[in-house]
Amino acid sequence: MPHIIPIPALKDNYIWMLINSDNQHVAIVDPSEAQPVIDYMNQENLTPVAILITHHHWDHVGGIPDLVANYSVPVYTPATETVKFSTNLVTEGDKIELTELDIVLNVLDVPGHTAGAVAYYNEELVFSGDTLFTAGCGRMFEGTPKQMHHSLTKFKSLPDNTLLYCGHEYTEANLSFAGTVEPSNPDIQARLHEVQKLRKSGKPTIPSTLALEKKTNPFLRCEVDSVVQSASTHSGQTLTDSTQVFAAIRQWKDDF
Ligand code: ZN
Ligand code: FE
Repeated sequence: MPHIIPIPALKDNYIWMLINSDNQHVAIVDPSEAQPVIDYMNQENLTPVAILITHHHWDHVGGIPDLVANYSVPVYTPATETVKFSTNLVTEGDKIELTELDIVLNVLDVPGHTAGAVAYYNEELVFSGDTLFTAGCGRMFEGTPKQMHHSLTKFKSLPDNTLLYCGHEYTEANLSFAGTVEPSNPDIQARLHEVQKLRKSGKPTIPSTLALEKKTNPFLRCEVDSVVQSASTHSGQTLTDSTQVFAAIRQWKDDF
């Protein structure tokens, strides 16, 4: 497995670098900016082999033009979204073989944040873009609650020990919302303390694991009694199915 490091970019974005330190090759996930990536590759003497894009938002694709001007690399982008300089359109079921990194990544369609968003995963990790966040999920800019909720169930079906790499450092704020939805969930409070410590020392709170997300992320807990109760109380309706619960807490978070 390559090792994975974040390059912080813009205000709170992470550009993920998958590095094979045996041969100095790297794949780049969601380069919001080019310069910090180029600087890092120069400093570490790395050669890029691929750019992987989760969705078309500018804070995930902004670095592509300057990267492809400097390096000849394939740019994998969601099949139903328009991203300049794309070379390979990908959709669910596709496999991306990165031979220099000795890994294969699978593609999942995860619409909701944007209409064509994708995630990249293998048996150990997943790059979720802005669809599933640590302790939260993305806003629904182009999708319906039904689509987004269905996309989140796809993440939930990955193994518990899967490492979750998302596009932004939002964990602390997300956990404070999670604690509002579930004030008596001790796992949320414990995680919040951990995350606050990390942030105080300037460290990333990502990756997380899907196991931890299932215990602390309200958007993955729409069937859990405490979340159903809380969403029903907050919305003033008796919510029964998990898509309704999801829609209610997503709306709650938008207003939070
Ligand atoms: Zn986005
Ligand atoms: Fe973003």
